[in-house]
Amino acid sequence: MSELTSLTLAAARDGLRSKEFSAVELADAHLLAMEKARALNAYVLETPERALAMAKAADARIALGKAGPLEGIPLAVKDLFCTEAVRTTACSHILDNFVPTYDSTVTAQLWRDGAVLLGKTNNDEFAMGSSNETSYFGPVTSPWRRKGSNTRLTPGGSSGGSAAAVAAHLCLGATGTDTGGSIRQPAAFTGTVGIKPTYGRVSRWGIVAFASSLDQAGPFTRTVRDAAILLRSMAGPDDKDTTCADVPVPDYEAAVGRSVKGLRIGVPKEYRLEGMPAEIEKIWEQGRAWLKAAGAELVEVSLPHTKYALPAYYIVAPAEASSNLARYDGVRYGLREPGGDIREMYEKTRAAGFGAEVRRRIMIGTYVLSAGYYDAYYLRAQKVRTLIKRDFEQVFDAGVHAILTPATPSAAFGLGEKGGADPVEMYLNDIFTVTVNMAGLPGIAVPAGLDGQGLPLGLQLIGRPFDEETLFATAEVIEQAAGRFTPKPWW
Ligand code: GLN
Repeated sequence: MSELTSLTLAAARDGLRSKEFSAVELADAHLLAMEKARALNAYVLETPERALAMAKAADARIALGKAGPLEGIPLAVKDLFCTEAVRTTACSHILDNFVPTYDSTVTAQLWRDGAVLLGKTNNDEFAMGSSNETSYFGPVTSPWRRKGSNTRLTPGGSSGGSAAAVAAHLCLGATGTDTGGSIRQPAAFTGTVGIKPTYGRVSRWGIVAFASSLDQAGPFTRTVRDAAILLRSMAGPDDKDTTCADVPVPDYEAAVGRSVKGLRIGVPKEYRLEGMPAEIEKIWEQGRAWLKAAGAELVEVSLPHTKYALPAYYIVAPAEASSNLARYDGVRYGLREPGGDIREMYEKTRAAGFGAEVRRRIMIGTYVLSAGYYDAYYLRAQKVRTLIKRDFEQVFDAGVHAILTPATPSAAFGLGEKGGADPVEMYLNDIFTVTVNMAGLPGIAVPAGLDGQGLPLGLQLIGRPFDEETLFATAEVIEQAAGRFTPKPWW
């Protein structure tokens, strides 16, 4: 890890503006770090030529005094975002060698603001997973290890590559997407900051769709301030996505450092699970104490439908996925397996192109949407979703500004350790995060400490719709108290 790769995004921005170093030097330092860290498998595509060309252009704009908010900042992009002329696969075989002819709105806005693309990061296939193990390119290995052990751990998923790249100093920030926890869970597992904004805050245009009513993009960074900076560039209204809200984007960075005095922070009793490791309970308690010391008022709240969120999510998300993934038929994108007629070609292509977890989701989704089962499963799950949303509304209406919970029910686990025999074991990772997607609310994961094995643990703050600012202010209080956590390089 060189000095340049250890900078925060904010410090790098300031250093570039005051010409302490150039964007080309900054990009070079990161490209070198990426080369040395290939064992992590965080990137599925490195784009060094593009990075250097973009950095050169950034240096020219800085020299002219025309620097954008992210001018010269090297970033990684999850392979779920379409990038013009740069291969985008969602880490699925079925999108083999798919090269988009356009950028997603999010990435277009990053380049508009001067950012530099280092490469595309690994993720679970079509973002379905919690460990990055369903990727066609193989799993990501976390830069973290348990004390005194060489066991390869997961960085979490589905945005595992982005989380690992940020934690291992292979970029200054990265994009992720979160349908049920795919930003917050990997952030918690890697000691990084990750925020899933309010549904509608960030355009979904050009992002490979998983479950369209739940998907939201957001940033991974090493500090809360950096997340605020990056989200501001990613967010905003977009005519190309009708679900993208037409509301102005505040200066999130200005919210960092804002006092939390007098804020009411809810602590939901339903998030205290039986069999939850004592260390998770301890870190949660610690978080409460930190916020209290900063002047916030902690109040116990109830979200009674919490226990139905995960089962309802695993109906709604596969239902939408089965519809979204119908477009991969061997005609329009990527892989094609020849067959005797068009039907056989579809079948062979889809059988060969989708991995086991994606096939499972398509089958579940098709089942719950089929005639005779629609009312019993899909419609019922939608009703449950409304109740979950109402739980949160009632808490916020009663004057609570944000809700504090653990981000995950455990620290990172070993590759191959979970979900082999029973997929539900893997799904349980999202128990604290899916509720937030079901309700369309913003949620941030912030590192809060290390467990007895030396692995990061994160806390989650859930906010009112479109109030990401309170989350940044509150998360920064935790960050200030907890400090920052960096893995020791072994790669
Ligand atoms: N782990 C959850 C799933 O597999 C969530 C994934 C995500 O947020 N993209 O569906």
